[in-house]
Amino acid sequence: MAAVVESQGPAKIGEEGDSQVSYPLTLLYCGVCTMPVEYCEFSPEAEKCKEWLKENDPDLYDEMNQVAEGVGGMDINDKDKKRQTRGGRGKIKLPKKKNAPKKIQISRTQRNKKKYVTIVTGLATFEIDSKKAAKAFAQKFSCGSSVSGDDEISIQGDVTDDLWDFIPEKWPEIDEDSIEDLGDVKR
Ligand SMILES: [Zn+2]
Repeated sequence: MAAVVESQGPAKIGEEGDSQVSYPLTLLYCGVCTMPVEYCEFSPEAEKCKEWLKENDPDLYDEMNQVAEGVGGMDINDKDKKRQTRGGRGKIKLPKKKNAPKKIQISRTQRNKKKYVTIVTGLATFEIDSKKAAKAFAQKFSCGSSVSGDDEISIQGDVTDDLWDFIPEKWPEIDEDSIEDLGDVKR
């Protein structure tokens, strides 16, 4: 009992087909090779096609040719720029400091409530051997004295005032003006 609805018959494809087929872009067919103008470059008469397009649609002609040239040109420029920035500058080598300022610095640091350590730096700037200097201080002040770092001597005890007299006396090349008292420092 099912009501069978008959199909409406053959679809009317043929009737409306042509009018419904509308491309979003209006294709321009070349007057020379009869192909869409974008295919003109494949035509054996490509040069003639160009001429035809130039006359019949100058805007499109310009557009097509500019795009091609523009892209190529920019590409080359970009590559050049990248190449230029990539070629890094050579590292500038700074000359080593040969002549450090000649200066002796004396400072004092407190080891505990009663004990101080006097620190002398800069003797090497006068080309004085740190070990020999430490020995000299130990003999002079009858105390412990040792090389405690690069161009640094630690003397057990507070001998700051004595150093002001002793250093120029022991090494006449050291002027008192070259000695700086840094006072108490924390270590
Ligand atoms: Zn053509």
